[in-house]
Amino acid sequence: MINVYPVRAFQDNYIWVLHDDAHAIVVDPGISDPIIHYLQANKLKLVAILITHHHDDHTGGISDLIKLFDIPVYGPQSESIPDVTDVVSESEEILIKTLGLKLKVLNIPGHTREHIAYYTDHPFQGVFCGDTLFACGCGRVFEGTHEQMYASLKKLSQLPDNTMIYCTHEYTLSNIRFAKCVDPENQTLLNFEMLCSQLVSEQRPTLPTTIELEKAINPFLRCDQPAIINCAQNHSKLLTINSSEVFSILRQWKDSFR
Ligand SMILES: [Zn+2]
Repeated sequence: MINVYPVRAFQDNYIWVLHDDAHAIVVDPGISDPIIHYLQANKLKLVAILITHHHDDHTGGISDLIKLFDIPVYGPQSESIPDVTDVVSESEEILIKTLGLKLKVLNIPGHTREHIAYYTDHPFQGVFCGDTLFACGCGRVFEGTHEQMYASLKKLSQLPDNTMIYCTHEYTLSNIRFAKCVDPENQTLLNFEMLCSQLVSEQRPTLPTTIELEKAINPFLRCDQPAIINCAQNHSKLLTINSSEVFSILRQWKDSFR
């Protein structure tokens, strides 16, 4: 049995720790202190680090952790992550023997050029997708193109419905505020807002989410739906637009949405 636990860091980051009560792996440790504390408190031995992309709030803790543990650091090809020992990319498989965990790498460029995700369907169904897909939203497009980001989101949306999505930020309520502007009649979205408001008021995470839920509420995964297309047309004053253009309009709109 593998537990997947969100360790809070900075203002709104989650650093996911996967463990079986003895061994642990950590995804995107932007800072080491809370991770070291969690490992010690739960008597866990760190066996690997997984990195999705180069941003500091996902990599800043690596150097301290590898001083304490002589372990592999998996990550994408990037000069900005010098501590990666095992560069991985699309379709490569990683076996974490101590945890009996198999992970498959997906290339999902857009937020950064080299962004990757780690997907597993054994012994649980989940994806660690960094800053690409969020509950009810998606990451900003810093390095790639809008077309790349849209293709990456579509790729994630094709994972099985019951896949748990382990995003790395608690952005859900602000994402819902934007989604309600775009898709105001969506009852599933309104129900999710009530649930998340409750969770946040109790200082509990709104994550993980699932592929099934995101396909129902996330405007960035619904760019082919009439309500979303309509809204993007009204916002942009363009008439005929395809789903990739709808994505681009929504992403630019959200960038300046307050
Ligand atoms: Zn990032």
